[in-house]
Amino acid sequence: MTVDDARSVASALPRSYEAVVRDRLRFRVGRIVYAAFSDDETIMGFGFPKEERESLVAAQPDQIAYIIFDSSVVTSFMPTLFPPIGAPTIAELAGKLELDPIALEKTVTDFNAAVQPGTFDHTILDDCRTAGITPAKTHWARKIEHAPYLAYPVRPGITFTYLGTRVNRQSRMVMKDGKPSANMFAAGEIMAGNVLGKGYAAGIGMTIGSVFGRVAGREAARNAKN
Ligand SMILES: Cc1cc2nc3c(=O)[nH]c(=O)nc-3n(C[C@H](O)[C@H](O)[C@H](O)COP(=O)(O)OP(=O)(O)OC[C@H]3O[C@@H](n4cnc5c(N)ncnc54)[C@H](O)[C@@H]3O)c2cc1C
Repeated sequence: MTVDDARSVASALPRSYEAVVRDRLRFRVGRIVYAAFSDDETIMGFGFPKEERESLVAAQPDQIAYIIFDSSVVTSFMPTLFPPIGAPTIAELAGKLELDPIALEKTVTDFNAAVQPGTFDHTILDDCRTAGITPAKTHWARKIEHAPYLAYPVRPGITFTYLGTRVNRQSRMVMKDGKPSANMFAAGEIMAGNVLGKGYAAGIGMTIGSVFGRVAGREAARNAKN
């Protein structure tokens, strides 16, 4: 991908802008650098602010985190497909999550002690915050103190890359010379970039997989018969 390619993609993204920092071209949204080029513009990397990197789930050694909450907030968010893991005490919850119970109890106790008095309002950036812990919870911080205690283990994932192989209407892979392959077909995530210029509508990933999967299967079967 050249700088011009990146620029044409970036120009279509909301709130994205270009900046030159220490002679290096960067594409940013707010303070977040999401793509940066080397001095000679031959290498492109993807970025995240240094000071925020250590709090990323992806930066953890085993890339897993646990959202811990209590029964008082269960109805405050959309129901999830899978129920949370629950237990009557934090120590028992730790057991179910295969975490050290003493460490988890200390984390929750420290968090609760750091929660400052405030007026909870989930519709605004309210003044409920923590003080003295890192990373800070800057809004909507409330003590975790009403059993049963609940948790969701979470891992980072890539929903869409917006890049991949090009296909034609028969789901045949389009080769470097611009001609469709005689016997190679692609469907789903690997060719979703053909359909998605930017963003996505709910369910579009599965739709692209199903629709092009059917087309690719039909065309591959037709190809095998001939
Ligand atoms: C966190 C997350 C949330 C999402 N939410 C939604 C949503 O709400 N709605 C929606 O429509 N879409 C959603 N998507 C996108 C959707 O899940 C994908 O677009 C879709 O699953 C892609 O299907 P696929 O069959 O192309 O690829 P995949 O589902 O990735 O299947 C590829 C399969 O190939 C296997 N494989 C890989 N290499 C090999 C190999 N060498 N040999 C054998 N097998 C191999 C893999 O193990 C995998 O099972 C989400 C994606 C993510 C990551």
